Amino acid sequence: MSERVLSAVAEQILHPQWADPVPSVVWHAGEPLALRADWYDAAMSLIGSRTFPTVSPRWGLQTSGIGLDDAWLALLRRWNIGIGLSLDGPADLHDATRRTRGGKGTFGAAMRAVGRLREAEIPFHVITVLTRAHLGEADRLFDFYLEAGIRRVCFNVEEVEGAHRASSLAFAGVERAYRAFLERFLERWSACPDRIWVREFAEAIALLATDERDGFNEQTEPLAALSVAVDGGVSSFSPELLGLASDRHGSFVFGNLLEEPFAVIAERIRSSEIAREIASGVAACRASCSYFPLCGGGAPVNKLAEHGRLDATETLFCRLTRKVLFDVVLDALERGLRLTDEAVVASDGQEVHL
Ligand code: SF4
Repeated sequence: MSERVLSAVAEQILHPQWADPVPSVVWHAGEPLALRADWYDAAMSLIGSRTFPTVSPRWGLQTSGIGLDDAWLALLRRWNIGIGLSLDGPADLHDATRRTRGGKGTFGAAMRAVGRLREAEIPFHVITVLTRAHLGEADRLFDFYLEAGIRRVCFNVEEVEGAHRASSLAFAGVERAYRAFLERFLERWSACPDRIWVREFAEAIALLATDERDGFNEQTEPLAALSVAVDGGVSSFSPELLGLASDRHGSFVFGNLLEEPFAVIAERIRSSEIAREIASGVAACRASCSYFPLCGGGAPVNKLAEHGRLDATETLFCRLTRKVLFDVVLDALERGLRLTDEAVVASDGQEVHL
């Protein structure tokens, strides 16, 4: 990413007209650690020097952990970067899908990154992508996190998305299997004194606890989440759309920061056919789904992948990550599982006491 693109991001997008005072800026996609730590040091310094004084980014990074060296540890500390490691559990589960181009498993490298982060006392979370093979392994996964000293866990499900045309989770009875997985994990989680923070439970409990469920969803709201490509192309809604195109919609890049002011791109995003189609999907969700106040209409990228349209409603993704999840957490609350007597730290760092 050139200095011109970085400067344009700083001056145009990280501007109070568009950005929160503390916007979350995440280095994502591909493998961020393929570049050296000093490139990021220079990039973040440049952005800092060009950003409006009242806007102060909170940095994040999602990585395989391969290549996490001393220079990276120093950079994480210096910039207080929130780091997420892609780690799919014990070696057999992780290495089943996370391999090098030569076919070697990357579990060892990911665990070395865990060790280095722990040793350096740098907080981190892991993102585990759940496949069909994980669903019967709730106990093994829980024990793995405990033993590895991993205390912050996020579960993604294997999604049908972009080039990934099929999911191992697309089988009859997946809701039952996913429900059993979550229930067992929740049971272990609630009984464990050395509690692991689990994004799914924390966010579901926080949402269920608030009276302000307005169905806000940054993936369906124009400009709420912006993605910038290496060449300055800008997309919005689901971040994954940045790299996608469809026959019906063409590219999901709405304009380029090097060619026109962001205000022009923003207006194009708001008034686009894509925004209209996403909004009608949200309206259909609102009219048909009792989970809408908790979900806000799902993820456009999954609607596109599973239905070829953005105005669809239910997807495999939402059945698992919204409907089954909320059912499991609600049932647990009703059964009086010990979910209510401790603070749950939500992803934004806010403490939610129930
Ligand atoms: S759970 Fe699914 S169907 Fe319901 S609002 Fe969300 S995306 Fe729409």
